[in-house]
Amino acid sequence: MPERIYNFSPGPGTMPQEVLAQAAKDIVNFNDKGIGLIEMSHRSKEFMAVTDEAESLLRELLDIPANYKVLFMQGGASSQFAFVPMNLLAPGQTATYLNTGVWAKKAIKEAELFGDIKVAYSSADSTYNHVPKDSDYTVDPASEFLYLVSNNTIYGTQFHEFPKTDKMLVCDMSSDILSRPLDISRFGIIFAGAQKNMGPAGVTIAIVREDLLNRAPATVPTMFRYKTHADKGSMFNTPPCFGIYCVGLVLKWLKKQGGVKGMEKLNQEKAALLYAAIDSSEFYRGHAQVDSRSPMNVTFNLPTPELEAQFVKEATTVGLDGLKGHRSVGGCRASIYNAFPKQGVIDLVAFMQEFEKKNS
Ligand SMILES: *Cc1c(COP(=O)(O)O)cnc(C)c1O
Repeated sequence: MPERIYNFSPGPGTMPQEVLAQAAKDIVNFNDKGIGLIEMSHRSKEFMAVTDEAESLLRELLDIPANYKVLFMQGGASSQFAFVPMNLLAPGQTATYLNTGVWAKKAIKEAELFGDIKVAYSSADSTYNHVPKDSDYTVDPASEFLYLVSNNTIYGTQFHEFPKTDKMLVCDMSSDILSRPLDISRFGIIFAGAQKNMGPAGVTIAIVREDLLNRAPATVPTMFRYKTHADKGSMFNTPPCFGIYCVGLVLKWLKKQGGVKGMEKLNQEKAALLYAAIDSSEFYRGHAQVDSRSPMNVTFNLPTPELEAQFVKEATTVGLDGLKGHRSVGGCRASIYNAFPKQGVIDLVAFMQEFEKKNS
């Protein structure tokens, strides 16, 4: 077994090794202060600097306009499924959602608790193997916003372009934030759990346009208002300190890789290698339709479930870990987020070719 295996896990996903090494040091003794990072007051000068740096790096890397707040929250992306409609919809108000998979469906269920929700499109009938084009659906004119999931982690699909509509977009970017440049001004709210492309589990980032902070109905509890967190710089209560710190380290690493433009290029290269291997073979079949393919999660099937199980098992023994597909799609899934090394993709492709030779 090599010292560090290739981790294709869909989430928590692989992190840059230099980030892990730095975090291991700082957990015990932060900046040679004689105190560990996770035992420091969140209101200490040192930790405030950590939070400020993480925020300013995120603003710089994603080019976030000044009229947006960056919030470091808890509860995962799943809590945001409720946060969004709770803060944006008064009873009787409408929003349009696109159902492109499990994470969209869960968000729809929560939104229905708060407003009149139109599901304008669903790809459920094709096991969510694609995302819609703008011409495939209509956004209800009364909608406060159009909600979508930019990258569908489970199925391996991605919106390569965001919908063109006069409505504000609200987007779950949990599995592809920071993987490509974005025009933030098209969005009212963007949120993402950190554990796929940004850091460890436990911190969720929400980017919220300022004018939306005052929309929450009076019945929304304090902790569930975006405004509460925005007004206090994510320090209304104890924030997820370790997560924020790690996100900061990941962002510093990302900046050194050429920022989101550099990442996008590398992600395209990695994905192209893997999709080319799938397309050049009769043995492997991609799950996602070609024009919806995700550069983050590559889903594919083998001729039989038995071969798929054997593939995953043998891959693990040579240090290619976490390739089992989600139970709702079956097959295999290679999650190759920002921090996943290109060499791991090259090794996987070689393994796939070898496996095909032996088993077809
Ligand atoms: C993983 C994932 C979620 C769920 O995230 P939690 O932080 O576990 O709640 C939501 N949306 C997408 C797109 C995901 O990939």
